[in-house]
Amino acid sequence: MIRVTENLRKIRDLLAKAAIDAGRGGTPIQLLAVSKKQSLAGIIEAADAGQRDFGENFVQEGLEKIASVSRNDLCWHFIGHLQTNKTRAVAEHFDWVHTVDRLKTAQRLSRQRPAELDKLNICLQVNIDGKPGKSGVDVDEVLELAKQVAQLPRLQLRGLMCLPALTNRFEDQRKPFARLRQLAAALAAEGVATDTLSMGMSGDYQAAILEGATIVRIGTAVFGKRKPVLREGDIDE
Ligand SMILES: *Cc1c(COP(=O)(O)O)cnc(C)c1O
Repeated sequence: MIRVTENLRKIRDLLAKAAIDAGRGGTPIQLLAVSKKQSLAGIIEAADAGQRDFGENFVQEGLEKIASVSRNDLCWHFIGHLQTNKTRAVAEHFDWVHTVDRLKTAQRLSRQRPAELDKLNICLQVNIDGKPGKSGVDVDEVLELAKQVAQLPRLQLRGLMCLPALTNRFEDQRKPFARLRQLAAALAAEGVATDTLSMGMSGDYQAAILEGATIVRIGTAVFGKRKPVLREGDIDE
């Protein structure tokens, strides 16, 4: 039984409450419904309940869903690891990419973004934990990459994204999100203005909102448990 409509209503209430608790009553927080490994029926139910933004991690799966759902009032966000040989499909079919972490990927996306579409919205994924081998640009290289991406003609640099290691302690959840917020402020001070902090998932969105998240990416709490994937949260194609 799908209970997506009910879940969405609850999450919207929780987001509104979290925003007020964070002293951000007036600032809407955008809910990105992460639909990877979820059914088409669930996505359609969510869309019928007014949900507009959907996030997908896998190029092929995302393209199939975009085609099958076939509604032009939805906004599709690519939030998975993006291999350079798959940038064209993403540039042609998605509205946002949250996971750009190197110039080469950004250059390809800009070149391949069709002229008749709006600019592709971009967040730079930051390796906020600083763990070697994790996806994301290193903290001390963000400014340089942001300046370069901001120059690309068919991209709109919107902000920063992070996917910190999961932890249950609320105070520990806040730290990486606070660092991402400070990083965005540092970019602004260098003349690279952005308006988006994409951070927080089902397990840690309250901490993310307290630290200034403007988009939270929530999957399980909207759609229920996913079909199994190999390694949750850190999946490659
Ligand atoms: C899967 C995923 C999410 C959503 O995770 P939930 O715990 O189901 O809310 C958010 N962001 C990214 C990058 C993901 O891969």
